[in-house]
Amino acid sequence: MRLNAFASFVEFHVLHHASEESVYGLWLIEELAEHGYKISPGTLYPLLHSMESAGLLKSRNSIFKGKVRKYYSITPKGKRYLQKAKRQVGELVREVFSEQDYRQFLRIESGK
Ligand SMILES: [Zn+2]
Repeated sequence: MRLNAFASFVEFHVLHHASEESVYGLWLIEELAEHGYKISPGTLYPLLHSMESAGLLKSRNSIFKGKVRKYYSITPKGKRYLQKAKRQVGELVREVFSEQDYRQFLRIESGK
């Protein structure tokens, strides 16, 4: 359960970013680390592959400094999945956060 929830949060991040621009593994690892998700390539890459097999992402190879780098972008199916996930997370946040929690959370976010 804990692992599944973690994987889902990571998936959510990946889909969100892939919906804005193409992303690659190392960039995602650094981006996720900034949000407090320490994820190793050994965990992230299989997750990216499974998201691609599920039709949520598509990849293309590009050469960067003589090495192949795999860029992932979102598919139409991935976009629909992301929209659904956003709705569900939005509902969850409204349900589990009291109004006071939520205000406090927004203050923390904005650094006030
Ligand atoms: Zn992110």
